[in-house]
Amino acid sequence: MADNMEEIYCPACGKKMEKVFMDKQNLYLDVCLNGCGGIYFDNREFYKFDEESEDITPLVKALENKEFKENDETAQRFCPVCGMKMVKNVMKSAEINIEVDDCYSCGGKFIDNKELQAIRNQYPTEKERVEAALKDVYINIGEELQKIQLEHDEHMKRPSLTMRAIKYNLKKNDDRLNDITQKTIDNINKNLE
Ligand SMILES: [Zn+2]
Ligand SMILES: [Zn+2]
Repeated sequence: MADNMEEIYCPACGKKMEKVFMDKQNLYLDVCLNGCGGIYFDNREFYKFDEESEDITPLVKALENKEFKENDETAQRFCPVCGMKMVKNVMKSAEINIEVDDCYSCGGKFIDNKELQAIRNQYPTEKERVEAALKDVYINIGEELQKIQLEHDEHMKRPSLTMRAIKYNLKKNDDRLNDITQKTIDNINKNLE
């Protein structure tokens, strides 16, 4: 869905929101820079920040060294884009729960500045751990799988191969694959502990 380029007003404190351009995600966020520091995400925008390449430097810069007033987070909020009542939900990110206001009509999401701080304080370490685990899996396991495949192909090319030899070879491969799978699981568990 296209970015909403209209000016909108903060669903929490009513102040006009400012557009902050996020170059890595190539979109504008609406941020309540002159009020509560809350952020409004258009439909699906949020997920662009939930994945690996979540560089939020422009947002961090915009929010830096600013005092924001606190909101009553229990108050009923209305979507600043379509006007519908927003619904409070809890999202799980890493180990923390993030409270968001969802608009089920246009798909917009609002998060308070406090929640953003919580995400930023918690997420980097967790993310690094996950990345380390995944990198390990991709590099090491990928190389081993390739090796096995090559050996297997080589073996199967031999003209004098008997049925018994084929079976033996397949069984050996199976064992190695099981081994790698177990190693992968252990690795991920170790990294995510
Ligand atoms: Zn606000
Ligand atoms: Zn809406």
